[in-house]
Amino acid sequence: MPATRRLVILGATGTVGVQALEILASSASPLEVVALSAHSRATELAAAGPAKAQRFLTSDSDQDSDLLRFLREGAYEICLNAVVGAAGLPYTEAALSAGCDVALANKESLVLAGGLLTELAAQQGANIVPVDSEHSAIHQCLPGGKPKDIRQIFLTASGGALRDLPSSKLAAVTPAQALAHPNWDMGPRITIDSATMMNKAFEVIEARWLFDLADHEIKVLIHRQSIVHSMVEFIDGSMLAQLGPPDMSFPIHYALHFPQRKASPLQGFDPVLFSNLTFEEPDLEHYPALALGWRAAKLGGDAGAVLNAADEIAVEAFLQERISFPDITRLCAAALESCCKGFVADIADVLEADARSRAFVTAEISNLSHS
Ligand code: MG
Repeated sequence: MPATRRLVILGATGTVGVQALEILASSASPLEVVALSAHSRATELAAAGPAKAQRFLTSDSDQDSDLLRFLREGAYEICLNAVVGAAGLPYTEAALSAGCDVALANKESLVLAGGLLTELAAQQGANIVPVDSEHSAIHQCLPGGKPKDIRQIFLTASGGALRDLPSSKLAAVTPAQALAHPNWDMGPRITIDSATMMNKAFEVIEARWLFDLADHEIKVLIHRQSIVHSMVEFIDGSMLAQLGPPDMSFPIHYALHFPQRKASPLQGFDPVLFSNLTFEEPDLEHYPALALGWRAAKLGGDAGAVLNAADEIAVEAFLQERISFPDITRLCAAALESCCKGFVADIADVLEADARSRAFVTAEISNLSHS
């Protein structure tokens, strides 16, 4: 492995992209940032990262194909994909096609096309290293332990902003209430997805592909302190957990430097301060969205793409106060029952399922607002 690894950061002006640039600037990293991309924030992009890095603004469609071409040429070793939403999928595919490692913060890539991408990564000898904190935890519990040695995994969840609200009050929840996350500072969509626990549903799908697990081998626990990021139980009954403060800088730093560990200025958590760590079974009546994750993981094929697209449209409508909070999950469940066609042969099939689900949910929302 060369001493310097060339790094591309996609979504450089977003929450994860900014944190990645900060952690690289504050540690003696062997990574050289060679390219950056952003969607529409041209001024911030110009100011982000090293001056000599190439920059791509993806709001312009020509520039967008320039970026895909650049990624396919593979003049870098690792790509951090921190694009938000389904728009991130083509970039993950392009980087893996070039045989380059992907530090994946764009969970939608795996939710939409996990089967296709993990197969592609294996063919090309490329690593997909998750940046999602729970999957990073599982990944960190696995060196030397192969996925086949896993009996089950436990993804932890904070429970989101509405965890202490009685279920009977969910119908009246406002966007501001759902956006007040207790532990993590994240973008608006993922914060709403955390309140419904649709985010955890996506993480079940993500884990299913990353670690080649069956739906029933993936468990979810409410862990209010967000210190234990996830746990693995091995076939011999032994369990490993990964712990740390709720700060995305940790999984970002790990993913960027894998398979090595590099020094960082980040401080671990103080076990004395956090001596009371609690775990609870999630209440599926309070979090009906969670069941959709296992359902989609079991269905496979285009189910993840359908679920994600339905949620993107529904969350946007909720933030615009066009639908109620419980409508988000209702619309996603309806899309999962109505829009799945099963097997996906390629990314085009995935994008077709995505479009089908978006059209379905958009029509359902307009029915709701006219009734
Ligand atoms: Mg997560």
